[in-house]
Formats: sequence, C-alpha cells, structure tokens
Amino acid sequence: MKLLGLDYTDISHAFSEEELMVQKTVREFVDSELAPVIDDHFREGSFPFDFVKKFGELGLLGINLPTEYGCAGMSNLAYGLVCQELERCDSGIRSFVSVQGSLVMYPIFAFGSDDQKNKYLPALASGEMIGCFGLTEPDYGSNPSGMITRATKTTGGYLLNGAKMWITNGSIAHLAVVWAKTEDGKIHGFLVDTASEGFSAPMMKNKWSLRASITSELIFNQVFVPEENMLPSVSGLKGPLSCLNQARYGIGWGTLGAAMAMYETALNYAKTRIQFDRPIAGFQLTQEKLVWMLTEITKAQLLALQVGKNKDSGTLRHQQVSMLKRNNTWVARECAKLAREILGANGISGEYPIMRHLMNIESVYTYEGTHDMHTLIMGEDITGTSAIR
Ligand SMILES: Cc1cc2nc3c(=O)[nH]c(=O)nc-3n(C[C@H](O)[C@H](O)[C@H](O)COP(=O)(O)OP(=O)(O)OC[C@H]3O[C@@H](n4cnc5c(N)ncnc54)[C@H](O)[C@@H]3O)c2cc1C
Repeated sequence: MKLLGLDYTDISHAFSEEELMVQKTVREFVDSELAPVIDDHFREGSFPFDFVKKFGELGLLGINLPTEYGCAGMSNLAYGLVCQELERCDSGIRSFVSVQGSLVMYPIFAFGSDDQKNKYLPALASGEMIGCFGLTEPDYGSNPSGMITRATKTTGGYLLNGAKMWITNGSIAHLAVVWAKTEDGKIHGFLVDTASEGFSAPMMKNKWSLRASITSELIFNQVFVPEENMLPSVSGLKGPLSCLNQARYGIGWGTLGAAMAMYETALNYAKTRIQFDRPIAGFQLTQEKLVWMLTEITKAQLLALQVGKNKDSGTLRHQQVSMLKRNNTWVARECAKLAREILGANGISGEYPIMRHLMNIESVYTYEGTHDMHTLIMGEDITGTSAIR
C-alpha cells in the first residue's frame, strides 16, 4: 500500500501496512461522512456529536493505548496519521480526538489506579463517555503553576473550588480531568463526574475559530470528589505537562493535514483559474508560493515521521515534540495565508475550506503551549538557560 495524499519524498516504506490501512480507513470515513457536513457545523458553531460513537467504532479514541482497556493498541505513527486525516477535514474534529485520547484517557492510563482504568478507559474508548481536560484558568494560561483552583480535604474525599476556562468538550463531557492544588500547594489530577452537585460548564460562545468544537468554562462550587477519584500516581506540574506532550504530538501531525488540504485546494484552483489567457498556475509568482508550501509541508512531514519513530521506540524527548508542534503549526498558518492569496477573492468564500482552516489554525497556534512557549522550551534546551521567567 502507498501513503495517500501528499508524499513528495516517497515515504510510504516508513509505515507498516497496518498504519497505511488506518490512514486509508480514516480518509475514506472523513471524505464520505464528515467532509459533507463540516461547513454547516462550523457555521452553526456546533460539534458533530453523532460521530462520537463512530470514532469509537473505528478505534480512533485512545488509539495508541493497550487493547486490554478496549483501545486499538496501535503505534504512535498510526495515531499521527489519524490526526493528519481528521485535521485535513477540520482542526475541531482532531481537537475532540486529541482531548479524548491524549488528555483524558492518557492520564487515566498513565497515572490512574486499576479501578480507574477499568472503569473509565473502555467507556471512553467506545465513545460512550466523553471527557475534557481542565488546566487553563482565566488568570493562568501559559503559567498553569499559578492555578487558583483548590482541592480541600474533607471526609471521604476533596471539595473542589475554582474555575477553568477555554476547555474543549467541557459542556458535553461526562468526565472532567481537573488539575487543582491541594492544601500543601501540590498539583493533583481529579476525575470529576460532571453530574456532581456544584459543577457547571457554560459554553463559551462568540468564537471565530474552532467553531465545530465545543469550548467551555468549568466552574467548581464545593464539588465533592471521592478520594478514589484522585489520580494516585502523579503530583506536580509534570502530570498535566506529560498529557500535553501526548496531545502536542498529535497536533504536529494534525496541522500537517490542514496544511495539505490548503495546498491541494490552492494547487487545483491555480490550475483551473484563467487570468491573462492562461492558468494562474503558469505564473512564476504562483509557482513560487506553491513550491514554498509543498517544501515546508514535506519538511514538516519528515519531522513528524522522525518524532513518531522516536515516540514508538521510546527515545523521544519532549523538546522534540515542542519543535514538531511549533514548526508544523507555523507551516500550516503560513500555508493558510498563501492559499488564501492564490484563490484571490474566492479565498475568502465559504465555497472553499481556506478561511475555516485559517481561522482554526489561530487557536491551534495558541493552545497546547503557544508558539512562543515552545520557542522558549527549545531555547532552554539548547542554551541551558530558561528565558521563561
Ligand atoms: C479553542 C481553544 C481550546 C482550548 N482547549 C483547552 C483545553 O481543553 N484545556 C485547557 O486546559 N486549556 C485549553 N485551552 C487554553 C490554551 O491552552 C491557552 O489558551 C494557552 O495555554 C495560552 O494561554 P492564554 O490564552 O492564557 O495566553 P497567555 O498565557 O496570557 O499568553 C498571551 C501571550 O503572551 C505570551 N507569553 C506568555 N508568557 C510568556 C513568556 N514567559 N515569554 C514570552 N511570551 C509569553 C504568549 O506566548 C502569548 O502570545 C484552549 C484554548 C483555545 C483557544
């Protein structure tokens, strides 16, 4: 089998047949079922909720987690290709799968008790249960260590008080993985049933980006969380940061998908749009833009492939994930501008997916560690000096 879509340097051989089959399956599902409805959802600001169970049936939720918990047990390269194919359609769809798999299922798998794993992972893998991840607060974004949300010890558990903001899936989640400080000032993860008394998740409206994804506040007013719902095996910022590292890996592949979609749209348009009696693809200035896009996308693809191999072999360093997230999101953002330009006035039309991707990529550029924060993580890695604070 061959890698589908853009593959200028012929890298199919780097993937197993199984990984290529996963890509094919997801691509066919996206093209036949999701692509026809995504524009409507984006315009209405709604998430295609009906597809959640289908994601579960296809094994896309927590795809790289073990089969004993009802997950697909696939490689990280397969996970990467899934993210690429989903974000080729829309960043909001990939965001759902990233949050469910990397930010909700992963911490339960990595830091949860056996009871927590057995109780939640199969339901999250099947899509029966939806999860969200609450780290960001109104006053603490890039600096989550300052978080205000508190978990105070009480008989049989903890009382949660505080608020989280910009939380993907918040209003549709059954389970929230919430990071809060206990009385000793340490950060812990709590599995919060969203039906608990004192919990509310108002939807954040008025977004011009990721409109096909639900974003919410989480408000905790004396929410009781039983003792057994604290994640037992992690404390401190490394808990949430290790989850983000999983999700950022998927974003590195996902943004590649958005960039590929925009490049392909621009190339097809350029070949058929006639100005001055010839296709605009024949003008040197248009060719330069297309060549820049293809070259940067190919470099981003090779980076994603190598980072994926490192992840699968257990040699990955988190700074390499920062490079991947930072570079590939930037490439997609630049491709959005160039594709928009190549389409001329049609570039702003809803007839083409460019503006939707362009607006989406602005969120992706900021969430899961802003472009700047990843620059500073890499800067510290190569100089030995942190410029973050
Ligand atoms: C659509 C969407 C979905 C999201 N989903 C989730 C979710 O599910 N769960 C969750 O917990 N969070 C989520 N987030 C929040 C996201 O992770 C934060 O927005 C992000 O961490 C940045 O925080 P901030 O927006 O408060 O920006 P700030 O931290 O206020 O940063 C503002 C600007 O200052 C810069 N800056 C900050 N500190 C420094 C520094 N030391 N040096 C140089 N520059 C600096 C930043 O790079 C940025 O450009 C989501 C955000 C969006 C937009």
